Amino acid sequence: MIGTITLNPAVDRRYNIDELAKNTVKRTEDYHASAGGKGLNVSRVIKLLEEDVCAFGFLGGNTGDFIRSEIKKIDIIDKFTDVCGTTRTCLNIIDSNGDNIEVLEKGPSISEDDKNKFIEEFKNEVENLDIITISGSLPKGIDIDIYSEIIEIAASKGKKVILDTSGDVLLENLKSKPFLVKPNKEELENITKIKLDSEAAIKMAAYKILSKGAQNIAISLGSNGMYFFGEEGNFKVDIPKVDVSNTVGSGDSSVAGFAYSISKGKTIDQALKYANACGMSNATLKGTGQIDMEQVNELIEKIIVRKI
Ligand code: ADP
Repeated sequence: MIGTITLNPAVDRRYNIDELAKNTVKRTEDYHASAGGKGLNVSRVIKLLEEDVCAFGFLGGNTGDFIRSEIKKIDIIDKFTDVCGTTRTCLNIIDSNGDNIEVLEKGPSISEDDKNKFIEEFKNEVENLDIITISGSLPKGIDIDIYSEIIEIAASKGKKVILDTSGDVLLENLKSKPFLVKPNKEELENITKIKLDSEAAIKMAAYKILSKGAQNIAISLGSNGMYFFGEEGNFKVDIPKVDVSNTVGSGDSSVAGFAYSISKGKTIDQALKYANACGMSNATLKGTGQIDMEQVNELIEKIIVRKI
């Protein structure tokens, strides 16, 4: 079973309208609400890979109840900690020209008590988990190095952690030696301040992150595939072209592909193929955090992993 951690989940609400305009009232029948947050995308994709998932984090209020009911429908094991306050809603209003406006709530502040309850919940379960993924930003009230605390608890039981976050939160938590980090190119550029305009520059930036503690690093490059630097060597993943529909959640799908294949003891070559095939499949589909297993299996045959 794979554990996923989403400390800052959200209800994602999408409204499609004819045209965005100031000071108007719009009516629509084209709207949708889903359980959002990067870790919940990871959880959904792991379920689609037919592996059991146990999801941890903080949920509160009626939006929290909505997320609980959505994850229950797809048999994700709910280990979320109940908090006071209301889980945030992220609003996306899209018009027929493709213009959109996003409104992101800040979400509830987490108390010390709730944080301790979450840590206890995680400690109680960690032995049942094959691998753990940590995704996304931190809610208010939570110290920046909480991810290190989680990684150290996991390590004390011999469990690997994939850490997918960005900026200072990523930098600050490298010291706890996560098994794998997966920034995209822009995120790596931001934290290393190195312009990533060549393979040599990407390698230099990757080694900077490895020197700070990460055991392995995968750098995702959208339609250009991925680089990987780590204990089993350095690799470039070349991927075929696909018809793209929605790339939101592709990085999360890659994390799910990694977690799944590592938990199954697959080789690094296979893990990189799964990670990219899941990201690609998500990119071809309309939904966020969705893959098609048949397509994933076809794509795996077409992806090339080169040692560099
Ligand atoms: P993030 O969502 O974290 O920015 P990426 O956009 O780099 O991550 O996507 C992760 C993976 O998904 C890529 O390494 C690639 O395998 C696949 N992918 C993403 N965008 C595309 C695309 N436009 N075409 C084909 N594959 C894609």
